[in-house]
Amino acid sequence: MSKYDPTSRVRVTKVDGKLILRWQAEEFSDAQRAANEHGELILNLSPDQPLIRRIGIATNESAPAQPIVQDIDPVTILTVGERNLERRSGWTIFFDKVHKRPHTTHLARLELSSVQVESVQRSVRVRLDGLSAGPFKGELVFNLYPACRLIHVEAVLSTDEDRRAIVYDAGIVSGTPGWNKTVWRDTAGQRQSADGFSDQSARPLALKHRVIAVENANGSLGVFPAPHKYFYPLDFANNFKFAWLGRDYRGLAKGHGFGFRQPLDGDNRFVPWFNAPPGTKQRLSAFYIISSGSGQDAIDAAKRYTRDDTFKPLKGHRTFTSHYHVEHTLEYLRRQQEQGTSGIPEGLEEPGFVKTFKDMGVEIVHLAEFHNGRTPRLKTPERLKQLKLMHDECERLSTRKFLLLPGEEPNVHLGGHWISFFPRPVYWVLNRAKGAPFATKHDGLGTVYHVGNAADVLELFKREKGLNWTAHPRIKGSTGFPDAYAKKDYYLSDTFLGTAWKSMPADLSDSRLGTRVLDLQDDMLNWGQKKYILGEVDVFKIEPDYELYGHMNVNYLRLDKIPRYQESWQPVLDCLSEGRYFVTTGEILIEEFTINGKRSGETAKAGSIDLHVQLDYTFPLESVFLVAGNGKTTRRRHLSVDREIALAGVGYDIRIPKSGFPDWNPKWIRLEAWDIAGNGAFTPPVWIEN
Ligand SMILES: [Zn+2]
Repeated sequence: MSKYDPTSRVRVTKVDGKLILRWQAEEFSDAQRAANEHGELILNLSPDQPLIRRIGIATNESAPAQPIVQDIDPVTILTVGERNLERRSGWTIFFDKVHKRPHTTHLARLELSSVQVESVQRSVRVRLDGLSAGPFKGELVFNLYPACRLIHVEAVLSTDEDRRAIVYDAGIVSGTPGWNKTVWRDTAGQRQSADGFSDQSARPLALKHRVIAVENANGSLGVFPAPHKYFYPLDFANNFKFAWLGRDYRGLAKGHGFGFRQPLDGDNRFVPWFNAPPGTKQRLSAFYIISSGSGQDAIDAAKRYTRDDTFKPLKGHRTFTSHYHVEHTLEYLRRQQEQGTSGIPEGLEEPGFVKTFKDMGVEIVHLAEFHNGRTPRLKTPERLKQLKLMHDECERLSTRKFLLLPGEEPNVHLGGHWISFFPRPVYWVLNRAKGAPFATKHDGLGTVYHVGNAADVLELFKREKGLNWTAHPRIKGSTGFPDAYAKKDYYLSDTFLGTAWKSMPADLSDSRLGTRVLDLQDDMLNWGQKKYILGEVDVFKIEPDYELYGHMNVNYLRLDKIPRYQESWQPVLDCLSEGRYFVTTGEILIEEFTINGKRSGETAKAGSIDLHVQLDYTFPLESVFLVAGNGKTTRRRHLSVDREIALAGVGYDIRIPKSGFPDWNPKWIRLEAWDIAGNGAFTPPVWIEN
């Protein structure tokens, strides 16, 4: 315990081969409540006993803890497959089908060889060495944060073997379970429960909010995965039964238990799992949450960490999301034909995706409606019919509080995949016959553009004040882009926004998400143009019972009001092109970020740097840092975080003297913030005038 600071706000004592940890579990947002609850975690350090002797809860600091669960073992089940490193650019791959090749599944086993207790600021980390799962070896880690109801458990595993892709399930298991009831919410949000400890064979369960909990008379314990990081990229965001409950799960986890899981075949299309390159420390995390109330109280406590899977309203901002292949237009036409109607087909009065976005607090949605390879070859009449219907449907489904905007992933003429966004309905055809004019007049629709090459694309976006950007840069159909056209006129034009960010590929050894695109942002800024990255989601069909939140991110635009569809939505495009927004997975809000009083997208005077940051977050923060570039290289400057306290806010007012970046004049500075579950938020840069 030499790295343990006894003034830490997590008290650790060792008694009779047991490690007893006690900490204040009452959270910041519970402060109004009179209680001062403390959590207790007792670990058995002697072999042949369940690892966790007890998890309990006490009414105050000195009261004895009442047990919630006793004699349980954490479960990690690791499935190890083979990455195809030849098919694309090595590890930067989405189009892989790992589930179709041989793979092995292993229950992680702990043969305890050493125990270390470390203070990390005022939180505590207990490291139990001797964990192994097949070819992976490492340690089991318990993290406790003061003023936080979470017990953050990580199986930290690495392998020397090359070409490994992994996926995992986790939870807890007991031979003598002491809980009376298991509870969850079904995909409609209805409360569900199973009495006793479920003697049935383990089965997968579809649930909302990803949390399953057990309760007894003393309190309750919920288990859930990292809300975004646990979901590797897929085309479909269906709820694939991400929880399990029952006896002898997968024949490996002996006893009665519950937890979370991933089906090995995902959506049965491209199923890339997680990258696990040799030597990397893969952090397979699970969160336990404790409550003195019922299991449903534990679920409510867990839901607060993802703001109930919604994007919280933020003054002066509007939530905007992009890149959705819901194919509403084509489904509308198909159903019209099936139902023999020329009106709104039954079942599409309010489509599932519209309801889903409204429920999540998303205010402005930009579709990527037509994205298949057939669209560029469509004859003009059919193409215009589809566009007209998309525009009409966006208008019909938009209200004062919700704006649905047309958009496509046309993928023609530039190389790679790209997204189109116009400030009003624009009619254009993705081909142009030899000798045919670029622009024609069409009765009822006005100007129709015929676009046959990259110069036509640029001319169209200039004339119609549109924006386009690289979809999924440097991966999938954009492998090699935008790099390959970074010196072309259509990239250098103001009509080219930059590119888009999404967590892909996924790697559990990376403390961030979507590093591929964050690195590209730095490259593009150092190339010298004002090119930005917005959050993209890039999924197909959406219904309210899907697990969309796990795959989602959102852009908070600095926009006072939602434009009406009937007017131009130019203000939305202006926010993007002027860098007036931030991107987040939802848990961390960047309420304020200024340098010398200037916000993202604006230009500050050079010299000393007065930094002002205000964050609103849920999980304890892991890191907050500035990234600065001088046109050639990039540097980071970390701001201190108290790795503690959940569901709170933090502010920084720091003067960084000119010598803060010695012998080096940054031209731009941007901000990133990440929490212990891998959720994050970031801004476009503030430009520095040199
Ligand atoms: Zn694409």
